[in-house]
Amino acid sequence: MKILKFGGTSVASAENIQKVISILKAESATDQVLAVVSAMGGVTDTLQRTGELAQQKEMAYLRLFESLTERHLQTAEELKLPTTAIAEVKGQLDNLKQILQGIYLINEFSEKTRDKVLSFGELLSSFIISEAIKVDFESAVLKDSRELILTDNSYTRAQVYAENTGKKIRAFFNEHESMITILPGFVSRSMDGETTTLGRGGSDYTAAILAASLRAERLEIWTDVSGMYTANPKLVKQAFPLKEISYEEAMELSHFGAKVLYPPTITPVLKKDIPIVIKNTFQPEAPGTLIKRTVENSRGPVKGISHLPGIALLTLEGSGMVGIPGFSKRLFEALTLKEVNVVLITQASSEHSICVAVQQSDLDAATEAVNKEFEYEISLAKIRPAFVEQDLAIIALVGENMKSHQGISGKMFSALGENNVNIRAIAQGASERNISAVILEKDVKKALTALHSRFFEKQLRNINVFIVGVGNVGKRLLDQLHRQHQYLLDELMIRVKVAGISNSRKMIFDSEGIDLENWQQLLNEGETRTDETWFARIQQLNLVNSVFVDVTASQEIAESYAQYLKESIAIVACNKIACSSDFANYKVLKSLSKKYNAPFFFETNVGAGLPVINTLSNLINSGDRITRIQAVLSGSLNFVFNNFKTDSSFFEIVSQAQKEGYTEPDPRIDLSGVDVARKILILARESGYELNIDDIENISFLPQESLEADSVEDFFETLKTNASHFETLIQKAEANSCQLKYVAEFNQGKAKVSLQEIPATHPFYNLEGKDNIVLFFTERYVEQPLIIKGAGAGADVTASGLFGDIIRLGKS
Ligand code: ADP
Ligand code: ASP
Ligand code: MG
Repeated sequence: MKILKFGGTSVASAENIQKVISILKAESATDQVLAVVSAMGGVTDTLQRTGELAQQKEMAYLRLFESLTERHLQTAEELKLPTTAIAEVKGQLDNLKQILQGIYLINEFSEKTRDKVLSFGELLSSFIISEAIKVDFESAVLKDSRELILTDNSYTRAQVYAENTGKKIRAFFNEHESMITILPGFVSRSMDGETTTLGRGGSDYTAAILAASLRAERLEIWTDVSGMYTANPKLVKQAFPLKEISYEEAMELSHFGAKVLYPPTITPVLKKDIPIVIKNTFQPEAPGTLIKRTVENSRGPVKGISHLPGIALLTLEGSGMVGIPGFSKRLFEALTLKEVNVVLITQASSEHSICVAVQQSDLDAATEAVNKEFEYEISLAKIRPAFVEQDLAIIALVGENMKSHQGISGKMFSALGENNVNIRAIAQGASERNISAVILEKDVKKALTALHSRFFEKQLRNINVFIVGVGNVGKRLLDQLHRQHQYLLDELMIRVKVAGISNSRKMIFDSEGIDLENWQQLLNEGETRTDETWFARIQQLNLVNSVFVDVTASQEIAESYAQYLKESIAIVACNKIACSSDFANYKVLKSLSKKYNAPFFFETNVGAGLPVINTLSNLINSGDRITRIQAVLSGSLNFVFNNFKTDSSFFEIVSQAQKEGYTEPDPRIDLSGVDVARKILILARESGYELNIDDIENISFLPQESLEADSVEDFFETLKTNASHFETLIQKAEANSCQLKYVAEFNQGKAKVSLQEIPATHPFYNLEGKDNIVLFFTERYVEQPLIIKGAGAGADVTASGLFGDIIRLGKS
C-alpha cells in the first residue's frame, strides 16, 4: 500500500489534476493507492480572506466567494464531471456561502469557524478529483478524513489522538480494498464532532498519519519541485535537489522554513521507519528526494540551507538579571502562557542579556507577557523593558555531520560578512544539526545565495587574459584558448576570457571576451596601439584575475612588467628578456610579484613547453638544493647540428632552420650562444644563485668574422665564406665518434655555454631533432640526475607552455 499526497499546485487546475490522475493510474496498476489531496492552490488563503472580510462586514467577501465558486465549477466542467457531481459541488459551495453569511451577520470569525471555512478547500478538491477519476471509467472511493482523524479541539492546529485515529484508519481500510482512495488533507474532527484542521500546510501530515497507521511501504509527497533542495529553489537559482537525507535533517530543514515538508509530518513515519519520497507532479521522471533513517554521507557536512521569514527579536537586558532567581524559567513560562512559540534563544555568557526570536505575529503578545512578568524588576531599573527588533529572518545551515567538522560556522559567518550581511544573533541547535543566524529580512536572498555558493557550488574562477604578440606562437595560443574554452569551464571550473589582444600596431578589448573565431579581422579593424594606451586600458577595465601575456621578444615590453605587477596583474611571458636582464631587475620583479600577489610565470623561457622551471621550483620548495645543471637547451642549435653532416653546407642548414621557424628571427641570437646563455642564467637564478649574463662564459664556435657581422645578411654571408671552418668542426667530431651538441652547464655557482663533442655513452648523444634535455644534479639526485627531455622548440609546444601557465593561474 502506498500513500501519495498531492499539494495545492499539483491540483491547481483541471490540467494539473489530469496529471495527478495519470500518476494515480500508473501507481495503482500494481498496488493499492491512497491519495491525500490539498485544496486547489491558493484556495485556503482565499477562504481565510473571505472569512475575514465577512467578519469585517465588507461586502467584498461576496466577490471573493464568487471567484471561488467560479474556479471550482469551471474546473469541474473542464474535467467533464457529470451533472450530478456538479450539483454536489454547487451544494457544498452553498453550504459555505451560508456559513460566510453567518460570519457577516454576527460579525465574528472564531478559530472554530475558521477551521470550518478552511475545510471547504480540501473537501471540494477531493470530491472533484475523485469524480474526475470516475469519468475515466476508473473506480475511486472518496473518504472524508474527518471520519478517520480524531483530534482535540485546539482549532487551527489541532492535536491528533494517535491511537484512536490509527484504529479508525485500520478499521476502514481493512474493509475497503479499492485500488484508489481519495482523501482530503488538512481536515480532521474533534471528539465532539466539530471540524478541526491540522495547521497550515497540514495535508502532508494527514498523509503521514495514514502511512504510519497502515504501515505503508512508503509515503510520497508530490509537489511542484523535484525534491528537497539544498535551498529554496524559488530563491536560489543554483540550488539542486538532494538525493537523500535523514529524517532529522529533513525535520530541521522544514522547521527552519523549507515549506516543501510540513514539520510535524516526519514524526509519525519516523517511528515506523517508513521512508518519505518527495516527487514532482510536473516532472514525475525526476528521482526526487528520499528521506529515511540513515543516509550515506556523500556530500559535505552541510545538507541544506533554509530560512524562516517574519521573525522578531526580543531582548531583555540589565545588570540586575544576574541576581534574579529563576529568571529564564519565568521568562519562558510567561511566553508559554501566551502560547508564544520561541524559535531561537541566545544568551550572552555574562548573563546580562537574553534574546529570543519569535514569529512576528506573536510579538505583541510576547512583549506584553515579558514586560508584565518583570514589571517589578523593571520598575526598580534592574532590567530594561523588552527591546524589540522586527523584519528579521532566521537562516539555518543544516546537516547531520556538521558537529564533527571544524570551521563550518567560521565559513558561514565569513561568507555573510564578505557580502555585507549584518548578523543580529547566532545560535547553534543543541542537536548540532544546525547553525542559525538572525539577519534582516531584506538580506535573505543575498545571504542564501552567498551561503549556497560557499557550501554547494564549485568555485568558478574567471581569468581575464590580455595578449600582446600574435605571431606564430601567439596565434596558436589563441587557437588553443578558443578550442579548450568549454573543457576548462566544465572540467576545471576555469573560465578564461581573452579580454585584450594586441600586435605592434593595433589593439582590441572586450571585457566579455573577444570572439576568438574572428579575432584577426577584429584586430585589423582595432584601435591604434601604444604601450601607454594598452596598459591604461587594461588598468581601466579593472577585471578580476587579469593576466598579461607577453608573446613578443620586445625589450620595451619586458621593461614594462613592473607596472602590471603593481596593479596586481599577473604576468605570463615567453619573452626571456626580463628574467635574463640585470639581476637587480629580476629580483625587483620577483618581489613585486610577491608583494602584490600577482603571479609571474615564465615556464616557456627554458625548454618551450617542457616543465623545466616548474620542476625546478618544486625541487627547491621541497627543500632540495641544486648543485649542478647540464643541459642542451637550444632547439635551433640542435636542429642545425643534427642535420649538419660532412656532405652538407652549414649555411644551407642555418637558412633552412630560420625558414622553418626554429631560430629566433635573428639567427645570430641562437648561433652566438646568447639565447642558451640566457636560459642557463634563468635556471641558475631560479636555483637561487645570484648571476648576471656577463658571468656566463660563452665559448663561441663561430669564426670572428661571423661574430662581427653587422646584419643578418652579412652574417649569412660569413657562413658561406667560412664553410671550411664549420666542416672542420664536424670532421673532427666524426673522427672522434662524437656528436656535436651545444651544451649549457652550471656547476659550483659558475655557468658556461659551449659546443661540445659528445661521446656515445653520454645521455646527450642520442638527442634528436629539436629536442632539449636538462639534467638536474641536486642534494637528493646525486649520482643519477633528474632528467627532463622532449621537444624544446616550436610554436605549438611553446603555446602549450603559455597555456599551461595561464591555467596554473586559474588553479592557484
Ligand atoms: P505543496 O502545495 O505541494 O504542499 P508547498 O508550497 O507547501 O507545496 O511546498 C513546496 C515549495 O516549498 C516549493 O515550491 C518551494 O518554493 C518551497 N521550498 C522551500 N524550501 C525548499 C527546499 N529546501 N526544497 C524544496 N522546496 C522548498
Ligand atoms: N490547504 C492547506 C494549506 O494551504 C493545507 C495544505 O495544503 O497542506 O495550508
Ligand atoms: Mg505544503
